Amino acid sequence: MERDTTGSAKLRELQARPGGLGFGRYFTDHMLVMDCEEGTGWQPPRIVPYGPLELDPAAKVFHYGQTVFEGMKAFKWGSDGQARLFRPLEHIRRLNRSCERMCVPPLDEATVLDAVQRLVALERDWIPEDPGTALYIRPFVIATEPLLGVAPSRTYRFVVICSPVGAYYEEGMHPVSIYVETEHVRAVAGGVGDAKTAGNYAAGLKAQEAASRLGCSQVMWLDGIERRYVEEVGSMNVFFRLGDEVVTPPLGGSILAGVTRDSIIRLLRDWGVAVRERTIAIGEVIEGLRSGALVEAFGTGTAAVVSPIGSLHWQGERLTVGSGGTGELSRRLYDALAGIQRGELPDAHGWMATVKPEC
Ligand SMILES: *Cc1c(COP(=O)(O)O)cnc(C)c1O
Repeated sequence: MERDTTGSAKLRELQARPGGLGFGRYFTDHMLVMDCEEGTGWQPPRIVPYGPLELDPAAKVFHYGQTVFEGMKAFKWGSDGQARLFRPLEHIRRLNRSCERMCVPPLDEATVLDAVQRLVALERDWIPEDPGTALYIRPFVIATEPLLGVAPSRTYRFVVICSPVGAYYEEGMHPVSIYVETEHVRAVAGGVGDAKTAGNYAAGLKAQEAASRLGCSQVMWLDGIERRYVEEVGSMNVFFRLGDEVVTPPLGGSILAGVTRDSIIRLLRDWGVAVRERTIAIGEVIEGLRSGALVEAFGTGTAAVVSPIGSLHWQGERLTVGSGGTGELSRRLYDALAGIQRGELPDAHGWMATVKPEC
């Protein structure tokens, strides 16, 4: 497909609109499509104009939720003006782990990486360059077989769409208030919490509404058995700075293995900060807030990178985290990761994958 350079003009027009680009609101001109057919498996990828999908109303995805997704980012910087993806292979590998859990046939990782790179190269003019902005890439697989029967679909479609996104912290990093959910749960070990699959998010909407009613922007999820151990915040992994160490819940099957989580752990270890993956009870968090031992808490994910937590709403009480502002370590981690992503800091771990132009 010919590269069309009107992307940058359309991007400028969207950026000038009230509210700017926002997140996941606007999409580029093309999308990647791959079909999986019975017997012959995954077919070669195709890049086609962005547009609606025509699906049979009986397609299994609508009824039984057999679907998985990913979310990763591309950036553009440097004198070569080339696009760069942040840890794309980690995202593609996780896509396949989600597929495995949901009985979706695995995709060839090299084929997907190459196809995503071709799509990003084609849409290069759509990549915003201001600090904090990116091209958000949303790969997903849906079960397309038109058959009402609970069994793995015999056909699938893999689609990748791209959305230019504005700076998450347009007005500087700001801490969010979090509602600790004690009734609903997100996931249990043995369930699908460690897969990026649609049902996890639909199941969380009710709690999200309760959080909004209390003026909180996200939910803190506790474990599904005892409602006692902290698992995640919204669709982010969670970290606490407690005493001399940083603590994050271990990946026990109910937690999504964030690529940002892994990157944050590595950065902390590079810096010689003690970081431990261990269970942390909500009681310990609350006690830490009261005693002053817990000085920072933050969520991590592709969209926000690092999202500082300013307060927790717990059993009718609102507790401030640290000073209620952005913690020193949260700020430092954000600056470090965002700096690597923008090419302003050395990429010691080789996280940025350059997209060959017009590949
Ligand atoms: C996507 C996601 C994360 C964060 O993963 P990243 O790879 O860092 O973007 C964390 N928790 C949930 C539930 C998620 O869906």
